[in-house]
Amino acid sequence: MSTSTRREFLQCAALLGAASTLPVSFALGQENETKTVDPLLTVPNGRIVNPKRKPRKIAIPNVGNFQVLKGDFHMHTLFSDGYVMPKDRVHEAVENGLDVIAITDHIEYRPFFGGKSTQLKERNDDHNIAYDIAKPEADKKNLILVRGTEITKSQLPPGHFNAIFLNDVNQVAEAVDDWKKMLAVATDQGAFVFWNHPNFPTPNPAAHRMTFAAEHDEVRRKGYLHGIEVFNGTSYYPVVSDWCNEMDLALVTTSDIHVSEWNMYGSQNPLRPMTLILAENRTAEAVREAFFARRTIGWAAGMILGRPQWVEKLFNACVSIKKENNSLQLTNQSDIPCQIQIGNTVHELKAQSELTLTVDSALKKLSVANWLVGTAKPLEVLVASS
Ligand SMILES: [Zn+2]
Ligand SMILES: [Zn+2]
Repeated sequence: MSTSTRREFLQCAALLGAASTLPVSFALGQENETKTVDPLLTVPNGRIVNPKRKPRKIAIPNVGNFQVLKGDFHMHTLFSDGYVMPKDRVHEAVENGLDVIAITDHIEYRPFFGGKSTQLKERNDDHNIAYDIAKPEADKKNLILVRGTEITKSQLPPGHFNAIFLNDVNQVAEAVDDWKKMLAVATDQGAFVFWNHPNFPTPNPAAHRMTFAAEHDEVRRKGYLHGIEVFNGTSYYPVVSDWCNEMDLALVTTSDIHVSEWNMYGSQNPLRPMTLILAENRTAEAVREAFFARRTIGWAAGMILGRPQWVEKLFNACVSIKKENNSLQLTNQSDIPCQIQIGNTVHELKAQSELTLTVDSALKKLSVANWLVGTAKPLEVLVASS
């Protein structure tokens, strides 16, 4: 496992988190309209994106007939408890080389733009507004924008869920008093539903570990739950890999970003979490089809996290291996770094680079220490002699 890169990633995130407490004024996403707000809430908004910097290009070869799209399906804006406007999420995503995002503002928690009544049903909030504002900008920038929301229950179980590929978030909000009904309404609209940050709001104190509760299993069996976050923000939940394998669920890796991208991860941070989607083409419908077929792979903090069949295919598409006698040559055509483990030794195969090793001529397999196909289970690759 990539402990060193993960440590660096967390250090970097902590450092940037400290920077976000500096009081600065921020603009409400409009060029000429700058409004100073409560310093405790202020972060630089998405205009920190450097217009002169070219968008990040992420090289990942196709996997068979599938394109590998890059996405983030958990993001907040000022229309719940995030600190940037919806359009800023579009600009940040483009800057980061993403193909597809979902803005998933909370239904139940909208401290900045919520209506006056504390009774959710009386507030007449429009829960589609972030999507509606961002969509024309996304179209202009050729970014796929998926309509989503976060269903936010304050106890665990059930905790929080994201529903993406919705048609109308307001219909889900109508059922706010009954979380199972909210999932049912979302699923009726054709949404893909995943369980967010499974250690939050509070972990199960008796078990001292995350628990896939009876409530989660009930909604899974009804067909209302299709995936789980294995990585959220800077948190990694190793056990989710096994849960997804055992229960045929998709792994999802998200930022759950509230502050600006710059505040959270800096500029074009290669360790930033994203979900890779093996899609037939670059359309929202193809992304949705891939989610339901469980063709998703997480990439965060230098780790690849996915179901074994797709991680193996992704590796074979990215890395070619040539072995002759006791010489092993690996070529990585992708931007995803690999930690090649032979015996107890780990060799770094960096993005778009080659590595030549002297090995035992009888070597039959190696493992990829930072590509995980189960809980603490690295990908194993067979090595054929040429
Ligand atoms: Zn949440
Ligand atoms: Zn969230």
